[in-house]
Amino acid sequence: MDFRLPYSEEQERFRREVRAWLKENIPEEMKSPVDEKDYTAEMHRFWREKHKELGKKGWLFPTFPKEYGGGGLTGDHETILEEEFSRARARRGTGGGLIASALMVWGTEEQKQKFLRPLLTGEMAAFQKLTEPHGGADLADYQSRAVRDGDDWLLTGSNIFIGGEHLPEIMFGPMLTDPEAPRHRNLGYFAIPVPSPGLTFQTQNLICSNPGGKKQSIFLDNVRVPGDHLIGGDHQGWQVLSTHLEFEHGGGGRAFPRDEVVDNLMDYVKETKRDGKSLGSDPMVQQAAMQARIESHVNGLLGQRTYWMYQNRANIQSEGNVSNVHDRLSDLRNAIRVREVMGMYALLGTREPRAPHNGAQEVRQRDAAGQRHAAGTTNIAKVILARRIGISRTQERAAPTPSTATTYGSS
Ligand SMILES: Cc1cc2nc3c(=O)[nH]c(=O)nc-3n(C[C@H](O)[C@H](O)[C@H](O)COP(=O)(O)OP(=O)(O)OC[C@H]3O[C@@H](n4cnc5c(N)ncnc54)[C@H](O)[C@@H]3O)c2cc1C
Repeated sequence: MDFRLPYSEEQERFRREVRAWLKENIPEEMKSPVDEKDYTAEMHRFWREKHKELGKKGWLFPTFPKEYGGGGLTGDHETILEEEFSRARARRGTGGGLIASALMVWGTEEQKQKFLRPLLTGEMAAFQKLTEPHGGADLADYQSRAVRDGDDWLLTGSNIFIGGEHLPEIMFGPMLTDPEAPRHRNLGYFAIPVPSPGLTFQTQNLICSNPGGKKQSIFLDNVRVPGDHLIGGDHQGWQVLSTHLEFEHGGGGRAFPRDEVVDNLMDYVKETKRDGKSLGSDPMVQQAAMQARIESHVNGLLGQRTYWMYQNRANIQSEGNVSNVHDRLSDLRNAIRVREVMGMYALLGTREPRAPHNGAQEVRQRDAAGQRHAAGTTNIAKVILARRIGISRTQERAAPTPSTATTYGSS
């Protein structure tokens, strides 16, 4: 299957416009660092402002409807944006796509104007607030409580592994609204403004680079939110969260999957000489490098297939999950192959002058392990996939997404 697109003249014009904008707007020192740990507060401030500019142009969430602050553009336009931003090491995304998708399907018209629009225009950044300390894998076993108080809700509980170093304006996630109700019918999905009285953050340091090695532990002590901050009904939180998790688990696909690590590995094998011979002439190196190339290519195709199914409103059942599981496992296997080929050079970090590719391979060595736990673990991704393809004790259908939902809004 070949997903390369014959771009139209209008699309090529769009590409030139994107390139020109990038050249004019993104100075070298604001480009994404090789190690996300080097993403500074100054860079963060710069990108928050740039994202507002991108939001106004409709380039931040290009395929979301214009009426809610998206670009109303096509998947082809998004692919061009991804491609150009990725090559320029520019940060296009704010990470709010999962939440925005849940709001599109489940938010009332008023909630869309209040929460979705500022997310899509870049005025507001958000964290997803999911994982609890007692065991994040089982999200349905939520223990943080939401209690009604007149028209408001009082939220109490704690979370770990949330967001990144720089705090957003708002967070979204589930809370237990009814301890007496059965599992999957006992949650609400809430918008929680940051800061709020009773809400505190404590920074966690992680070894992985993404996102900047920093996460937040969060403590909520009777945090008051108005009634309209509940998205969906007070027993529908699991259903809203399921839409959110479709994207967390690969259901939106990837417009332009780029595997810089494997591209770098190919360059390394081509350019490096050992004992006067090219590295690629060693049959063991050749085997490992080719296996990495194939897995990376398959990974890219799986991500693109899901992306185009999503854009064409096709019935995605397990395609995103297949891609998600393959991505996690092949990344880890390729990190091992990089070590087999490059040896200790794969472990030289960004501050080491002899590090190949400015230390990018060392960054991947750390991330390959950590990222297999993010967005739910690989074990959980396999459990979900098994349910989707009908080889599990229980069966599961994909949750509605903006691509598949026939009507929007829960009012
Ligand atoms: C880099 C990074 C970024 C993250 N970002 C976020 C974020 O932005 N927001 C957020 O809310 N969370 C985030 N997380 C948290 C992440 O989603 C959780 O770590 C994950 O869901 C697992 O939860 P846990 O760590 O509590 O592991 P546990 O739930 O304690 O699980 C421990 C182990 O048991 C396995 N296990 C548990 N239950 C089962 C089962 N039924 N079948 C098979 N195996 C099982 C798990 O796979 C895992 O290996 C992030 C984590 C990392 C590492």
